[in-house]
Amino acid sequence: MRHNRENSIIEIDITNVCHKMCSNCTRFCGHHKKPYYMDFDTFKRAVNSLDGYEGLISTIGGEPLLHPEYSRFAAYLQKKRGKDKLTTTTRGNAILRDYLHYAKFQRWVEASLNAGRGYLLFTSIPRHYYKYFEDVQNTVSDLWLNDHTAISMHQPILISRKDLGIGDEEFAKLRDNCWLQNFWSGTITPKGCFFCEIAGTLDMLFDGPGGKPIEQGWWRQDISEFNDQFHWCDICGMALQTFSRNANEGIDDASPSNYEKLREMNTPKFAKKQVNLVTSTATNNSRLGKDMASVMGNYQPDNDVRIGDVKRNMQPERILRIESLGLPFAKAARNCAEREWLLYAEPHAGLPINFEKLICSRYLNPGYLFRCKFGIGEAVLLSPIAHAAKRLGFDGLRDRNSIDMLAAAWGAKVHVLEPGFEDLPDIDIPYFRDKVFDNYNNDDDFKTRLQQRLQEKGIVEGSNLLVLQSAFVFHTLSIVRLLHNMGHSVYVMSSEKFREYFANWVKNENISYFSDSHFNFTAQSELREELKCQKKFDGAIVPFSFGPSTVKFIDDYTDALRTAENIGGRILGIVNIRRRFVEPEYDIWG
Ligand code: SF4
Ligand code: SF4
Repeated sequence: MRHNRENSIIEIDITNVCHKMCSNCTRFCGHHKKPYYMDFDTFKRAVNSLDGYEGLISTIGGEPLLHPEYSRFAAYLQKKRGKDKLTTTTRGNAILRDYLHYAKFQRWVEASLNAGRGYLLFTSIPRHYYKYFEDVQNTVSDLWLNDHTAISMHQPILISRKDLGIGDEEFAKLRDNCWLQNFWSGTITPKGCFFCEIAGTLDMLFDGPGGKPIEQGWWRQDISEFNDQFHWCDICGMALQTFSRNANEGIDDASPSNYEKLREMNTPKFAKKQVNLVTSTATNNSRLGKDMASVMGNYQPDNDVRIGDVKRNMQPERILRIESLGLPFAKAARNCAEREWLLYAEPHAGLPINFEKLICSRYLNPGYLFRCKFGIGEAVLLSPIAHAAKRLGFDGLRDRNSIDMLAAAWGAKVHVLEPGFEDLPDIDIPYFRDKVFDNYNNDDDFKTRLQQRLQEKGIVEGSNLLVLQSAFVFHTLSIVRLLHNMGHSVYVMSSEKFREYFANWVKNENISYFSDSHFNFTAQSELREELKCQKKFDGAIVPFSFGPSTVKFIDDYTDALRTAENIGGRILGIVNIRRRFVEPEYDIWG
């Protein structure tokens, strides 16, 4: 098991309420008779307790956006962070063609920029997503969207090792290697702090004794300090090699003792006969529990495949044209539905034909006021759910009877739409590449660590270095440029999917692309041999995503390390997103 201080994420479970009832939900949604919503004071203590933590802080449910105080929680997170996200100041934060793709891009930028810190949100995009769109964009650096309509495999949790006859000694090893605790996180529930998120949710479901007090630094303690919570592992199937079930089946799997507990409690899901009694876990899909790769293999990494019709919840529904600003505008704002926007156009505003339709096909951050400059006159488009509109209230909106006055009241969140706006790309790669690189280049501690590591390995100026792409592409781009600036000849190997990112950053002759989306040691042997014939390297640098927690369990990473060693001759260093060197925790060839 892993010390929580090393985990990439620590969760805060703010509610157990969800509008879905997926199979084998880690929060046991569908079984709770009493919903809970973490109160603001507890939330504040939870966030404050994580001061100094170097990873992501995640708000999770249930469905976190069903918490009635989510806005207040988000504002507190933002206050704690003390600075804006880089991406909040750019066009993509205001209007997008493809929010789903952008969410992924945004997390690459933010994770690199914040060295793995920041705020994460897991959401299934409930009907009222739009209400919190601005809060999410203000606060969340790592947005995980999953409405669970596409294939999404969930491993059974309510499987007790004792029911399966697994003895203490064997289980101790399995538990130590539990992929979930190693890969994911500890958690804070209203009942305290837990070494593992599942222990926390089991405690909630089965009315356990609670966790450690929510106080500063609890997560710094060694994992052994949590041994009074390890009993939850005995009734949890995550460390076992079992099977997986598609989330949208809505069925939970439980071994006899857990099944009996649910029956006694007569949980809502049990009463609806949505619990499957498991007496044997012998299946041919039995790698679960050993590593996460088999979950990943069944997972849709692309948001546009993962997310179904609910993406409409993230778009404007209707544009209402109002004849004049002032009182009519304020009255209309009062009666608007959540996804309705107001449009006022001066004479000769020259709005494009089908403007309303076009706008409703885009993702517009409702926090923004849009000045539409297409003709001699101007138009203004705004959402009455914007924080700025709420601050102004009815009287404030009524009294702002010119576009200039309204725009002044919106402050920084004003965006200008001009002819051709609909064709602008969502993502300005060169802009973000430079921004993130500046951040790395100003990090003298990291540059010193990098320099020292190379010296320790006997690397002199002008060496030939191989760098492998990581999932966080901006992390790789910045390391490549730093090494180049240190006077080395840098060669990159990357998936084709990142070609656009490396263009005009690395010379064509200094990069090889492969068509798979990840390193695949077996399939890419030809490419490796070709490269080895062409070049001789003094060593390889492997930029990594989180690590070390991800180093141990994901096959793709093992293949990346094998590739680095095979082509580069030796691995000079693995650099995680925290900009620290980490070592593999296992034999990569074993
Ligand atoms: S969306 Fe599904 S998996 Fe997520 S909390 Fe709700 S029920 Fe659980
Ligand atoms: S076995 Fe379950 S409770 Fe124990 S560490 Fe793994 S996921 Fe957490």
